[in-house]
Formats: sequence, structure tokens, C-alpha cells
Amino acid sequence: MRLHWHRTDLRPSDNLALVTGDDDPILPVYVFDPRILTHAAPPRVAFVRDSLAALREWYRARESDLVVVRGEAPAELARLADEHGADAASWAQAYSGLGRRRDDRVADRLADAGVETRVVQDHLHHEPGSITTNDGDPYSVYSYFWKKWRDREKSPSVSAPGADRLADVDAETPIPTLADLGFDDPEATVPPGGYEEARHRLNDFCSGPIYRYEAARDRPAADATSRLSPHLTHGTVGVRTVHDRVVRARETAPDEDAREAVETFRGELAWREFYHHVLYFDPQVVTENYREYENPIEWREDPEALRAWTDGETGYPIVDAGMRQLRAEAWMHNRVRMIVASFLTKDLLIDWREGYDWFRRKLVDHNPANDNGGWQWAASTGTDAQPYFRIFNPMTQGERHDPDAEYIREYVPELRGVDPELIHDWHDLSPARRREAAPDYPAPIVDHGERRERALAMFERARGEDGD
Ligand SMILES: Cc1cc2nc3c(=O)[nH]c(=O)nc-3n(C[C@H](O)[C@H](O)[C@H](O)COP(=O)(O)OP(=O)(O)OC[C@H]3O[C@@H](n4cnc5c(N)ncnc54)[C@H](O)[C@@H]3O)c2cc1C
Repeated sequence: MRLHWHRTDLRPSDNLALVTGDDDPILPVYVFDPRILTHAAPPRVAFVRDSLAALREWYRARESDLVVVRGEAPAELARLADEHGADAASWAQAYSGLGRRRDDRVADRLADAGVETRVVQDHLHHEPGSITTNDGDPYSVYSYFWKKWRDREKSPSVSAPGADRLADVDAETPIPTLADLGFDDPEATVPPGGYEEARHRLNDFCSGPIYRYEAARDRPAADATSRLSPHLTHGTVGVRTVHDRVVRARETAPDEDAREAVETFRGELAWREFYHHVLYFDPQVVTENYREYENPIEWREDPEALRAWTDGETGYPIVDAGMRQLRAEAWMHNRVRMIVASFLTKDLLIDWREGYDWFRRKLVDHNPANDNGGWQWAASTGTDAQPYFRIFNPMTQGERHDPDAEYIREYVPELRGVDPELIHDWHDLSPARRREAAPDYPAPIVDHGERRERALAMFERARGEDGD
């Protein structure tokens, strides 16, 4: 028998470990490991619970079961191997330092018990080390990475295993509740998890919206992106399945613009892989700047401003709408993530690590590769980062990407009924005009023009330039 340890591959089909390797019956297992749970948060745990329930149903319909246990992974897996007489175990490759250290401990423990282990590369099309510069180094510039990623052949998806591959087992342990695991209920309405949900999302997106992706993806009110991120993060859909479907959409695209839109979407899938490579080769990026400056960046400690940011009370409408969307839905539109991250680091001058930590706690799709990549990009400390002197103006960003203030007014009720022009001018209105237009909405907590100058000086000092 072989244990298959599910982690971020919460799906039965397009799961390589379930259909490759020996013919031994497979015993599927999920472990709630307290060491990993200290880094988790309610929205993600809720999504994982949904996804486990769906996966368990799938196994049960095939006279098998998903064994769900709690405890440290090395001890639990060794115990299960012993209990079920398994002499092999498989799992999909992890990319973070934390995940890889845990997997090493598991492999050592199982080796001591005489259990052979197999790591399957399943979460990316192209694994770290397979797309490199001509000198064999990992890329730190996305555009070069993309050219190779784009042209490289992708493996097709694989089907789910037949019932004959699965161990005949009855797992009695229920899936623990959030409270059992020590979590509060999420503040947000978390999108439903599960592999079927992922399939529906993918098919819906690829049968129409994908063709408008290029034109509408930067419009948060348009809801024009796939919202596949929680599914790709938790592996309720396989990357090969996504790519096959996207390629089919490209083949049936009605015109050249639609085909280009599909290619732009493929580019986002490549960003995801790029950031996984960065994390794999530089696991310390989760806490350290990727890019070195001559001097430390003098981030400010400002708990009050940080609180205004997390609560969506900064007086910058697009920033507040994004932060409130995050609290309400455990998800935020990509353009708005860029705006709020720039605002935290370049207007409030607060360390990106504070923002990353908040996103880690609130996002249903948080994964260290993409989240860290996004934060370090915005903070000008990352691989292909926004140059430090290009600072988003939150007012013009709002006006450009949400011209009718539809998105803003959806998430900031105090501004409903206020003219979009006034909303986009909020920063420049007189206090009396603001009170008249929306008495309950705050005045801007900082002056963007003044903060922009301070941010430039802060980065110049970090670069060893005068900065005054
Ligand atoms: C500060 C910041 C933090 C972020 N944190 C995360 C995170 O924790 N988890 C996460 O999955 N993405 C993160 N992103 C990237 C991006 O915002 C989300 O992937 C995207 O908004 C998810 O929505 P979607 O699935 O509708 O995206 P779509 O536009 O439909 O894109 C499809 C998929 O491509 C990938 N993708 C898209 N944009 C990016 C990107 N810029 N970088 C890497 N992969 C991308 C995602 O897997 C996404 O699901 C972050 C971006 C920023 C600026």
C-alpha cells in the first residue's frame, strides 16, 4: 500500500501521484499539522475544509476514503504507514522553506520506518531549475522567464484514478471544525472550495470572459478575472487542466483580440510559476528583501495608520474599497492589491512585511510565492520590482480603473450616492465640501504629494544617495 499525502492538491483528477508510480493501492491522507497551522488563517482553513469534504465524498463514492488526522506530520504519517502496512508514501513538491523543511522531516522519519517516499512534481508546469538563464541561474526578470515559459511544451492533464487503484478503507475521523483547530470563524464570506467548484469556475471563465480579459482585467468593477486563485493555491484544480482549457479557448477564439487576451491570461499563469521559482531559490524572501539596498530602508512604525489601512479608513476611496473587499470576501482584485500595497509602503511608509502579514491572515488565496512576490514588487524590494521612483497616485489610479466609482461605492457605503467626480477628488476637497458630500467618510489621513516626496527621500537614503 502507498500513502498519498494530500496538501495543496485537493483534487482527484489531474493529480499525478494518484495515477503514476507503482500499482499498490493508494491510501489518501490529509494531516492538520499544528506547526503548519500556526501560519494558517480562518479563510484558508474554511476553504480547505470545504475542499476536503468534497474530496472525501469523491473517495467514498469509490469504496475508499480520505483519512483526516491531526498532529505533527512526521509522527502521524509514520503511525498511519504502520497501522495500514504501507511501505511507500507520496506527496507533491513544496516550494516554501517551511514546507520543504517539514517534508524533509517526514522523509527522514518514514525512511527510519522503512517506508519509501516519492515527491511528485505536480503544482507547476515547469519546476524550479528547468527555466533558467543561459548560465543556468534562476531568472530575476519576468519578461525573459515568460518567453521561455510561453514556448515550452506543457504536459496534458491526466484523469482521476480508477476505483481499483484506491485502498479499501473506512475512515471514521470527522473533518475537524475551525473551532476544533483553534480558529475563529472567518470575518469574510469565503468562496466555496472543492474540485467541482474549481471546474465550474474554469469552464465559465474560459467560455466567454477570458476573451475580454485583456480589456477588462484592470477594472475591478467588471469582475473580469477568473477568480481561480484560491483553487490554484489549494490545488482544487490542476495546472494542466487549467492550461488545456485555456488552450482550447485560444483555439476557438473569435478573433485576434480574443486570442491575445488568452495569451495575456497565460502570462498571469506564468507569473505564478515565476514567483514559485523565486521562493524556491530564495526561501528567505518571506521575511527579507529580495533586492539589497546599500542601507536599511527606514520604514516608519505607525500603528494608527496601519490600523486605518487594515480597516479601510484611510480617506483614499480606492484603497478603502480594496481593504474592505478583502475583509468582506477574503479576496481582492489584483489592480487594487497593487494600489493598496503601494499605498502602505509608499504613502504610509510602512514596511511591506506588515502588509504581507495582514494579507496572509485575510486572503483565501494566500500563498507565500505570489503574496510575497506581489508585496516586494509594490515595495520596490523584489525581483522585477516597480522602480522606487514610480509611485502610484491613489487618486488617479482610482479614476483610471474605476471611473464611475462603481467598485468604490460597492464596498464603501458612506460614498454611495456621491458623485464619482467628488470621490476621485476627495483628496483635494475642502473639509466643508467633504462633510457635505459624505459626512461619515474620513478625510485623507496623509497628503499624497508630501508622502511621495518622503518616500523618494527614504529610498534615496537606502540607495546611499543623499535623500534630503
Ligand atoms: C500585494 C499583492 C499580493 C498578492 N497576493 C497573492 C496571493 O497571496 N495569492 C495569489 O494567488 N496571488 C496573489 N497576488 C497576485 C494576484 O493579485 C492574484 O493572483 C489575483 O488577483 C487572483 O485573482 P484571479 O484568480 O481572478 O486572477 P486572474 O487574473 O484570473 O489570474 C489567473 C491566475 O494567475 C495567477 N496570477 C495572476 N496574477 C498574478 C500575479 N500578479 N502574480 C502571481 N500570480 C498571478 C493566479 O494564480 C491567478 O489565479 C498578489 C498580488 C499583489 C499585488
